[in-house]
Amino acid sequence: MLNVCFSPRYFAQTHTNSMEKLVAVAEQLQQFNDYKFHEPQQIDPEIFKALHSPKYVEAFLTGQPAKLATFAGFKPWNEQLRDAVLSINAGQLLATELAFQHGIAANIAQGFHHANYEYGGSYCTFNGLALIAQHYANKRIFILDCDQHGGDGTADFTRRLDNLYNFSIYGLAFGYPTYERAESRHIHTKHGSFAQYTMALHEAFQRANEWKADIIIYQAGMDCHQADPYGSAWFTTELIQKREEIVFNLAKRDNIPIMFVLAGGYQNLDDLAKLHAETFHIAHRTYYGKNKD
Ligand SMILES: [Zn+2]
Repeated sequence: MLNVCFSPRYFAQTHTNSMEKLVAVAEQLQQFNDYKFHEPQQIDPEIFKALHSPKYVEAFLTGQPAKLATFAGFKPWNEQLRDAVLSINAGQLLATELAFQHGIAANIAQGFHHANYEYGGSYCTFNGLALIAQHYANKRIFILDCDQHGGDGTADFTRRLDNLYNFSIYGLAFGYPTYERAESRHIHTKHGSFAQYTMALHEAFQRANEWKADIIIYQAGMDCHQADPYGSAWFTTELIQKREEIVFNLAKRDNIPIMFVLAGGYQNLDDLAKLHAETFHIAHRTYYGKNKD
């Protein structure tokens, strides 16, 4: 069975469907017997004061000052949102531990890669990818970010954490910088192709191997899908599923543990939840064989 982290506390009422999506994907997966669910508790917020500016962390924990507390974009601030973020990030560490033990695991989570040291942004409160590098200081953490937007926050964190490498493959750069351990491949939203995307995936794995990554954290974003408001015209459902097959097969081939999360996706919730669920089914098929109803 594929180990999956989720808690009903991941949900928070916001003006977007970012957190509703997590529940919808969990419900999709609960229809199958292939997934072993683990419920994380809340992470100790002090951990974030070592990762982010303590002033920003304190503001998010208390809701004051409001402007700093809501920098990630979720307004107004509320305790449910705070508790959801703390639970989701506990899930990041639990899922990573499970991936080290079993070769693969997932967290039904999103909302990390635009958060930098000083503050969150674009619905990313704390950087739960950099968090993994902070927590596993003796391991090399390689982020394969296939969200449609460049993971600019994670790229910034590579300058603070020596054991963090970020490789973003995106259609929308989002101000993504290039640093020694922050690379990217831009695949054009209209004129790009899956052949280019596939090449970028292979390059990412080549880099992960060269750098001797201990684990890959995969942002399996769905906002590159052609029906998404941010999507790439050529990126069909079938091709996204091919992307997942390639990623999981390469991780398995190279014997690198992999932990994956949902990352972005903004189309109609029903279609979106099914698309995200397919990532889990493909992971399951790759590692554990055929899906059972
Ligand atoms: Zn995105």
